[in-house]
Amino acid sequence: MSEDTIFSKIIRGDIPTAFVYEDEHCVCINDINPQAPVHLLVIPRKPIPRLVDASVEDQALLGHLMVKAGEIARKAGCGEAFRLVVNNGEQAGQTVFHLHLHILGNKHYSESGL
Ligand code: IMP
Repeated sequence: MSEDTIFSKIIRGDIPTAFVYEDEHCVCINDINPQAPVHLLVIPRKPIPRLVDASVEDQALLGHLMVKAGEIARKAGCGEAFRLVVNNGEQAGQTVFHLHLHILGNKHYSESGL
């Protein structure tokens, strides 16, 4: 679980990537392997590996990511219907160990949403 993941390289500019949104706390990029018509990743600049590695001092940051995710989803044309997904841990499908929120939109999900 190195801090120097591909997302840290993208945030530093080592891997040139268009930011859909950025501010002092986070960036948002298009997922390279989209699983929905809109598939964006909201990534904190702080390299927290997994959600469970976040602490009380990260509360405001986590709230910021959620609020921005909602704004970004709307601007991306998702309307009121989108999903936010956080994979925590390898067994849950996490592959990049730098916390990120998936925004998935413009795809029809079943009634349960799962
Ligand atoms: P995870 O499986 O929840 O960790 O999500 C990692 C996501 O990062 C996957 O959906 C990948 O497709 C995406 N991803 C990996 N490398 C890149 C990249 O270089 N640019 C954009 N997205 C990436």
